[in-house]
Amino acid sequence: MNDQTSQIMSVCILGGGTAGWMTAAALAFKFHDSDVRIQIVESEQIGTVGVGEATLPHIRFFNQALGIDEAEFMRATNATFKLGIEFCDWGQIGDKYIHPFGDFGQPIDGVDFHHVWNKLRRSGLKTPLEEFSYPIIAAQSGRFHHPDPDPAKIESTFGYAYQFDSSHYAKFLRKFAEDRGVTRIEGKVVNTVQNPETGHVETLQLESGETVKGELFIDCSGFRGLLIEQCLKTGYQDWSEWLPCNRAVAVQSATVGDIPPYTRSTAREAGWQWRIPLQHRTGNGFVYCSDYISDDEAREQMLSAVEGELLTTPKQLYFMTGRRNLFWNKNVVSIGLSAGFLEPLESTSIHFIQEGITALLELFPDRSFASSDQDEYNERMSLNFERVRDFLLLHYVATERDDSPMWRHFRALTLPDSLQSKIDVWTHRGLVPSYEFSVFLPPSWIAVFAGQRILPTAEDPRLNRLSAEILQSETETLHRSIQSAVARAPAHVSFIEKIGGLASSARAPAS
Ligand SMILES: Cc1cc2nc3c(=O)[nH]c(=O)nc-3n(C[C@H](O)[C@H](O)[C@H](O)COP(=O)(O)OP(=O)(O)OC[C@H]3O[C@@H](n4cnc5c(N)ncnc54)[C@H](O)[C@@H]3O)c2cc1C
Repeated sequence: MNDQTSQIMSVCILGGGTAGWMTAAALAFKFHDSDVRIQIVESEQIGTVGVGEATLPHIRFFNQALGIDEAEFMRATNATFKLGIEFCDWGQIGDKYIHPFGDFGQPIDGVDFHHVWNKLRRSGLKTPLEEFSYPIIAAQSGRFHHPDPDPAKIESTFGYAYQFDSSHYAKFLRKFAEDRGVTRIEGKVVNTVQNPETGHVETLQLESGETVKGELFIDCSGFRGLLIEQCLKTGYQDWSEWLPCNRAVAVQSATVGDIPPYTRSTAREAGWQWRIPLQHRTGNGFVYCSDYISDDEAREQMLSAVEGELLTTPKQLYFMTGRRNLFWNKNVVSIGLSAGFLEPLESTSIHFIQEGITALLELFPDRSFASSDQDEYNERMSLNFERVRDFLLLHYVATERDDSPMWRHFRALTLPDSLQSKIDVWTHRGLVPSYEFSVFLPPSWIAVFAGQRILPTAEDPRLNRLSAEILQSETETLHRSIQSAVARAPAHVSFIEKIGGLASSARAPAS
């Protein structure tokens, strides 16, 4: 328990991107009524990474915890709703499936529905698993509403996230944080001063000559990792062996046609292309591996697949997949890109920021900086990163593609044991073990397995107590109930308008 003398009274955040302002907002909320001083240093001259528009459902709970009104947030960030990600050409060229934020059907007699589907499939059922997912059918139909609070209803079986303009989100959170006492300091950090005995960071020196002191530092300085790496030399684990994509090129375009409630990821010969629809424009990008394609070719490939008029010039980004050896080292906690980066195939980076903030609040140190707090934080974040790495890798290895050197590289890859065992348990009996500190729950894994043609050879034996007729009739009823419920659901943009979330710059819904 903290007493007055051991309590940390001064927190300094370095960096004002999505990570910096999310952290500042959460700390401002937690320490609003206290004397704890929160400062954030950012440099407009350096700017932010400028991408990161697709999220996971957990971000709703971050906003809710801060008391942020959904409609106000959507108007401020030009946000759309996101029911999942559509994956094109991953298992084979021509394949298409959606990873939904939600379940496949509802359990029958206590057994998860995908077992029922697998049993019927093995005896001839042709209907794909996705037709038993409410969020997938809603996404494909361009419809959206909030989940029904009644768990008995099929309309309750999903969650949702947002697609938004991240620079507007940072501005929105900046106002939130400054209104609650956070002090913003504009300036470029050119040097850091450490305590000669402990090695703790004590002072940031700015180009202007100004100095900023702190007891706890949060490094949100992006890929540079100014404190965690350049100052503390924490070290980085390079995971390119498994996830070799190391570059991206991104561009914004005018929206063509309807605004779908989902992100799209299309596999290509040397990487994959994203499409993220916002209210006022579309975000596009191509993530690729420089061993297999040049920057010029990548840009051309991306532009040839962009549908609308270009609104920006293409922006080039470079990264190395992996994570810091320690996320929290001495009195520095790295959050955001400074902590590590996994390619944005499943929109996980902003979620890692949220996980980091949540763990930091729970393990908030006092001046003794107990190593047990740091160890626990580092353990949780390591597990989060490793499990997402495995999930991303699954997309590349659960494939029949061998049409380019990149796909042949993945076909020959030795998988991490953690992923191999997950695949083995699934194919053996249709089970996906779930863990604490792992963002993707079994339905996510099932979506990718089934969408990329990795199917179990058996299912939960508890199904044997139900006759084939019962399973069939329950399945048909489920299918009908999804179709009719989706037909009653409002169109995506109409729903945004109905809740007051449409920004003035957005396109009005088609009448
Ligand atoms: C190609 C690509 C696509 C992505 N897509 C997604 C996505 O769809 N979904 C998702 O969740 N995430 C995505 N991400 C990740 C996402 O962009 C980041 O997680 C998010 O923007 C947070 O970045 P950040 O705040 O850590 O770093 P940055 O945005 O780089 O901010 C760093 C901050 O530190 C400041 N700074 C740095 N050095 C100094 C200095 N010396 N002095 C003062 N200030 C300094 C900068 O000015 C800036 O304010 C993507 C990333 C990439 C590369």
